[in-house]
Amino acid sequence: MFDGILADLIDELGRLPGIGPKGAQRIAFHLLSADPADVRRLVAAISRLKEKVRFCELCGNVTEDQRCRICRDPRRDPTVLCVVEEAKDVVAIERTREFRGRYHVLGGAISPIDGVGPDDLRVRELMARLAGGEVSELILATDPNLEGEATAAYLARLVKPMGLKVTRPASGLPVGGDLEYADEITLGRAFEGRRLLDV
Ligand SMILES: [Zn+2]
Repeated sequence: MFDGILADLIDELGRLPGIGPKGAQRIAFHLLSADPADVRRLVAAISRLKEKVRFCELCGNVTEDQRCRICRDPRRDPTVLCVVEEAKDVVAIERTREFRGRYHVLGGAISPIDGVGPDDLRVRELMARLAGGEVSELILATDPNLEGEATAAYLARLVKPMGLKVTRPASGLPVGGDLEYADEITLGRAFEGRRLLDV
């Protein structure tokens, strides 16, 4: 429908998650008529993101340093480790103020349909951390949906020989949902009432 530069931009925007062809078109035309200074700020923010922001070498959370703020904080309890799918889940759990341990971000969930297996996630890194012997409780806070449950079950079986206390946030979270969309109170309660995961 369009060609050249405008078509290229619509094409690129359309690849972004949550933006369909119509949304891509709307954003492209918005940028075309926007103040050049605003557009430059947006471009600069994207460039800085790719230059400066990376994943914490220890837990996989986002950071501008080698290690994230939580891994660097000596007040965080090193004996409780909470496994989540994405860095945005860390933000959701931090908002509840219920959790004072540390995190491990997997980078997704096991999903055979999408071709995602344990080797595609930061499972090896998790096992290396657990081998350190400092962790006594592992909270499997993957999403309360099919892939999240399967991932939690897989990890629970994997770490079983290590004799850790393995827990999962209590029910009450919207089933089939995404951890990040749970409200703070619900998520906080789910953490408080976490149950032992016996496999
Ligand atoms: Zn970290």
